[in-house]
Amino acid sequence: MEPNVFAAPQNGFVPGAPAKGWAHRVTYPAPSLLTSLKEAAWFWGHHGPWAPLLRRPKEHAPLRPQTTLRKARPGEVRVTWVGHASFILQVGGRTLLTDPVWSKSLAGGIKRLVDPGVPFEALPAIDGVLISHNHYDHMDKRTLLRLPRDTPMFVPVGNGGWFRRHGFLDVTELDWWLDAALGNLRIELVPAHHWSRRGLLDANHGLWGGWVVTDGNGRKVYFAGDTAYGTAFQEIGKRHRTIDVALLPVGAYAPREHNGGVHCDPEEAVQAFKDLGAKAMVPMHWGTFRLSPEPVLEPIEWTRRAWAEAKLPESALWELPIGGSRAVPPPARARREGPVPEPVRQPVADKPLAQVPKVRVF
Ligand SMILES: [Zn+2]
Repeated sequence: MEPNVFAAPQNGFVPGAPAKGWAHRVTYPAPSLLTSLKEAAWFWGHHGPWAPLLRRPKEHAPLRPQTTLRKARPGEVRVTWVGHASFILQVGGRTLLTDPVWSKSLAGGIKRLVDPGVPFEALPAIDGVLISHNHYDHMDKRTLLRLPRDTPMFVPVGNGGWFRRHGFLDVTELDWWLDAALGNLRIELVPAHHWSRRGLLDANHGLWGGWVVTDGNGRKVYFAGDTAYGTAFQEIGKRHRTIDVALLPVGAYAPREHNGGVHCDPEEAVQAFKDLGAKAMVPMHWGTFRLSPEPVLEPIEWTRRAWAEAKLPESALWELPIGGSRAVPPPARARREGPVPEPVRQPVADKPLAQVPKVRVF
């Protein structure tokens, strides 16, 4: 039985999470065995023992490292791209990290192509960490264990045990559409079209999702985590009108028959941005790790094309280099912190996300 999300307490872990996990929340059917084998062969070819003999791709995402992180002005929301899905969010006077990965390589030997945009040593005290799901390129043990164990961790339900086992003391587990307060911030887990797995036998044991952070002035940042295209974006946009900045994934989409059900391609990310009704988009999840066979720069080039074709204002596409920052300016009468925003109490039907008919096959 699905837990009734509205009966669940706020700011806490959800009782009654299904014992067998969250397979019923997976939107698209898993790829066939054949496409999975092909994908595994590509991976082995590029990341196997002979990988160092192969030429690493010459092109990569532009890097503009920051060795000191500028403080945000009161009321400002500052977003800094560290690489892949790792961001530093300076919001409501606090500093949050999303899916922090500072390691030189991922489990399985996948090398980082570009250094982190901000050295770990240069980080200010971290007030909270938002985790989208447990895949290794998003939940990196080596990086997480560099953080003090009393750092507040926000994770989708089913992932809290891992954090508690690793000594973290302040872990908030949430189901989709549930929120918690952190100081003057309201932090809500929102749905994503994805899945999870860390070991051999734990597929979908932990939930996955994105995060909407609202500050005391009502400013909203949306971090999508890892997601395919689907109906989630419209739902999120209905509930959170005026998202100021959306951090959306544009890479690791090829081949579509394998990745179409789990990752957006740039055209879909641009459509997701429109569905959300957000004011600005930062493309992420590209140029940092080679997770799929598309050329390294293709995601950003295709994003620019799709953006122009959709006739969206150029100024709303915030294309950051790794290490780049950009800020939503403070509102006219910004309050230094402002009150804790009220949680959104609009009912949401507790039903699996719908599939979207695809133009491309997968
Ligand atoms: Zn993932």
